[in-house]
Order: sequence, then C-alpha cells, then structure tokens
Amino acid sequence: MSFGEIIRAKRDGRAHTREELERVARAAAGQEVPDYQLTAWLMAAYIQGLTQREAADLTLAMAASGERLDLSSLPKPWLDKHSTGGVGDKTTIAALPLLASCGLTLVKMSGRGLGVTGGTIDKLESIPGFRIDLAPEELIRQAGEIGLALTGQTPRLAPADKRLYGLRDVTETVDSIPLIASSILSKKIAGGAETVLLDVKCGSGAFMRTLDRANELAHALEAIGSKAGLHVRSHVTDMDQPLGWAAGAAIEVVEAFETLAGGGSPRFRELLLELCSDALVEVGHSRSKADARTELETRISSGEALAAAERWVRAQGGNPDVVRRPNSLLEPVVESALVYEGLPAWVARWDALAVGQAVLELGGGRKLASDRVDVQVGVVSHVEVGQRVEPGERIATVRARSVSQAEATVRRLRDALETSERPTPPRPVVITSSS
Ligand code: URA
Repeated sequence: MSFGEIIRAKRDGRAHTREELERVARAAAGQEVPDYQLTAWLMAAYIQGLTQREAADLTLAMAASGERLDLSSLPKPWLDKHSTGGVGDKTTIAALPLLASCGLTLVKMSGRGLGVTGGTIDKLESIPGFRIDLAPEELIRQAGEIGLALTGQTPRLAPADKRLYGLRDVTETVDSIPLIASSILSKKIAGGAETVLLDVKCGSGAFMRTLDRANELAHALEAIGSKAGLHVRSHVTDMDQPLGWAAGAAIEVVEAFETLAGGGSPRFRELLLELCSDALVEVGHSRSKADARTELETRISSGEALAAAERWVRAQGGNPDVVRRPNSLLEPVVESALVYEGLPAWVARWDALAVGQAVLELGGGRKLASDRVDVQVGVVSHVEVGQRVEPGERIATVRARSVSQAEATVRRLRDALETSERPTPPRPVVITSSS
C-alpha cells in the first residue's frame, strides 16, 4: 500500500488496520516519506479522528520505532510520572526523589517547555552541571544505583513521535486527543514503563482549558494505555492559578527542594502528597492511601526525601549542596513588586495563563522551539485564590533582567488579579482522580 493510499483511507474516514499504522510509524521514523505526506495524514487523522483501538496500535507502533529501555535488571516497583504541563508545575522535581526515598524505581524522560508551560528539563538546567543527556545505558546504571534517573528526550527512543510531534506543532494538529495520547504513551512504553502516574492539568494555564476536555483526555489515556499494555493512573488537577509560589525555572527548583525539606506552598505540597500517595497504593507499595501519606510525610520530616534529591543531583553531575541551600541557585536580578491597591477583599482569580505569559515575556519560556530559556527570571506569587488581601499587600514579585522589563511585567500582571467582596473558595488542587 502506498503512503498516498493510507492518507486517502483516513481522509475518507476509514479506520486503519494495525499494519497501516505500523507503516505510518515506520514512515515517521525514516526519511522515505516526505513531511508533506505525513502532515496530510496528520490533518486527516486530526479531522476524522482515531478510534481507541487505532490510537493504541499507533502508540505501540511509535514505541517500536526505536529502542525500548529494558528495566528488568532494576528492582520493582517501577513508576513513570507525566504531567501534561502547566504554570509553576515543578511536581516532577519533588516527586521523583520523594518516591525514590520510599524504594520505588523511577526512570523518566522529560521534555522542554513550549509556550506558557515550562519543561522539567529547562528547570533542572538551572542547576549548574546537571546533565540532562543520559544515554539509555547510563539511565539504567544510575537508576540501579540510586533508584532514580531522568533524561531529556533522546532520538533513540520513539523517534517516530519526535518527527510527528514537530510536524503537529507547526500544522495546528497538536490538539487531538488520540494524537496526544499516542505521543505521550509511546514515549512511556519506550522508556520501559509499566505504571504511569498521569497528571492532566486543567485550566487557563494548561493545554486542556475545560474540565470536560481534561476528563476526556484522562479517560482516553487510561483506555488507550490499557489497550497498549500500560497501567495508567490519572488525576485531573487545577491549573486556573499557578501551582505553588514559583513560576520560572530556578525559582521552581528552589520551591521543589524547599517542599522536600518540609516547606513550600500548602497547595503544591497537597498536590505532591496526593499524587505520590496514590502512586504508592497503585504500585502495591502501600496498603492504603492513609498509610502512603504517613510514609511520605515521614520521608520528608526525616530528611530522607532530601537525601534522595542530593543523591540524584550528585549522580547527574550537579553540586548536591544546592538541595539544602536552594537559594544558592538564584543570581541577583532586578525585582519589582505588584502591590494590591484596592479595598480589603478576597482573591477571586489569580490567572495562571497571565502569570505564564509574563514569565514567557521575561524570557523564562520558549516561544519557538529554538529559543533559549533564561532560568533566572520568573514570577513569585504571594497570594492564592480564596485568600484575603489588604491594601498595600504584595501580590507578586517579578524577577527580571532590567527595570523596564520588570515594571512592564508588573503592569501586565495587574489584569491577572480579580478580587471579590465575598470569599471565593478555590477549586481543589486535585479535581478528579481515577481509581
Ligand atoms: N506532550 C506530548 O508529549 N505529546 C503531545 O502530543 C502533547 C503533549
């Protein structure tokens, strides 16, 4: 069958066979089919959709387009964690060492950020010397030694996704649930995962703006994952306001390590403990969620979670002292404050999208895949939805490279805040969770 016939089949709304989807994945991983034919197929799949069976077949075919990590030499349980991305989402940086301190094995491939959602790899690059280019053999060796290893995307795993994702990004075909699911899950399978803890962000600062779309994606990921042999445990979590205090690479690493030391924002800590306790139950490590939470809290208060983070930073080439002294990661920059000037009131909205856009404009995010991220800039939030604010109170601190940039960002952030004369309860940080 020619690639043209595959495009025509999808254009006409026919369901593909497994062999046809294997052909698509092989074509994406190789060079014999040009970009224009692949993008024609992507647009046809975007418009006509893929059934769950097709999405599962595509997932497996993309996972098989490169190497697959063999974790069999590593102690179980194995866990992978994935977030669909949001503003201030530093959860992976805290969750990995916390779960490793409980004895789980975590091997993870992470991405760079694009648009308002930051990428874990960019954040970790704010730690001088931290390597994000571990080869598959290094990942396995390090995970064997310390229970934990993370790398940026490597062309050796799921190469079909790398090309297809690049094409989707510039042809308005990202926003398709079966294409998103097969992209995410193919990388998880190639990374050797069995159980995936999935955080689907929902709100203004996320891919999925509405709860219906976020639930749809979460269910699709579970169903397609299960057809492809993966166990996916999903949560839909709030992204209408930034997660935690910090949005911006280095300050997010600071908050992640402070949270492992027992501090951090209560909302971020709550998300971390919720996701990680469900993970411990899911992989059979804990008998109940209450047991899991007690264990996680003990790992934090005893310093074991911090010690796991130190081992991780040292193993990947960074200076482990930054874990206990995270502020040492911050270079002097220009700071400017957004101060509340209204009457006493309650915060009704502190918009994640506006904060994410502010970080992007400061240079702390990437508008184009080729942009460099300034890890030092960002926005520190001092309020959360539902909190009372008084005149003169600080709402946010902007970290910028120049006074004019800092002041322009403060002006822009004024619109991100809405107050109300009555208390507005915040949306729970975990909105729905599969069980
Ligand atoms: N993240 C991915 O890895 N793939 C998508 O398609 C969307 C988000």
